[in-house]
Amino acid sequence: MPEFVPQELAAGVFFCTLPLPMKPSHVHVTLVRTGSGWLQFDSGIYTEESWSALKDQWRQVGCHPRDLRILLVTHHHPDHFGNSGPIVQESGASAYLHPAEAAAAQHYLRREHSPEAVAFFRRHGIPLERLGPVPAVGTFWSQFYRPVTNPLPLTDGQRFQFEGCEVEVIATPGHTPGHCVFFLSRERLLIVGDHVLPKITPHIGRFPSGPENPLRDYLASLRRIEDLPVNLVLPAHGRPFPDLKRRVQQIIQHHEYRLREMLAAVHGEARTAYEVASLAWGFDERAPLSVQFPATFEALAHLEYLCGEGKVIREEHGDTTRYRALGG
Ligand SMILES: [Zn+2]
Ligand SMILES: [Zn+2]
Repeated sequence: MPEFVPQELAAGVFFCTLPLPMKPSHVHVTLVRTGSGWLQFDSGIYTEESWSALKDQWRQVGCHPRDLRILLVTHHHPDHFGNSGPIVQESGASAYLHPAEAAAAQHYLRREHSPEAVAFFRRHGIPLERLGPVPAVGTFWSQFYRPVTNPLPLTDGQRFQFEGCEVEVIATPGHTPGHCVFFLSRERLLIVGDHVLPKITPHIGRFPSGPENPLRDYLASLRRIEDLPVNLVLPAHGRPFPDLKRRVQQIIQHHEYRLREMLAAVHGEARTAYEVASLAWGFDERAPLSVQFPATFEALAHLEYLCGEGKVIREEHGDTTRYRALGG
């Protein structure tokens, strides 16, 4: 019995599991059989284990590599796009990714912080001199990243039609600037990548070179899809689930709670995003960098959202930005 067995969720639609070398410990990719070949959604990460688990599942469903026509990718993160290079090389498939994602992919190959990134960390209160060495993202991640170099562009509203299968592309920026989900209209299946996850909420952060108000983008992207006529949602992490609208509402409520919490944290006192994050998540400088940095970016996304709503203002003190609740 193979370790990973694809699950056929509708005729010719196979939900596959691939291992990850970190938490969450797996990612799902989807294979769809059409009259003339196969489509794949997301690539998995680039490790030997993941690549051989994928090839094994191609065999199990009867997909010969040269029959894989198209690879559609939700976003640029290593667990979704990292193995796209080898897949395209092996199969000759055409890979598609939103242009904003293709630009962001460079981030995972960089082994040093740009001066702009360092200034951004300081501006938002991250005590760099007290944290010790802070490796750039690529120092760790580039070993798992073999992205295809020139993916074809995905655009919102684009449709792919094959014998027996129709795919609609819906842009859902927020988790990343060009994240897309894929609606299989005939089967009423929605492949959502990291946009809507059943057990955890996707990370929404404001980054040095990212959109200014990613949480606003994300909440708008949730509302865009909540009423789609969907039988089953296929997330990248966790099991497929039927009730899209219910899960969307839960995630919106989670962010509304976080927004209230962060508004309270800057009531009566101006604070940096780092200070707000350390209050909201209860950490100090001894916590792992993998907690402190994402939490700061997530707090920043919420604070910028509150600025956009007119509830919080930014105060510039030299090279540092602090946030304060209006009327507080
Ligand atoms: Zn992601
Ligand atoms: Zn993911």
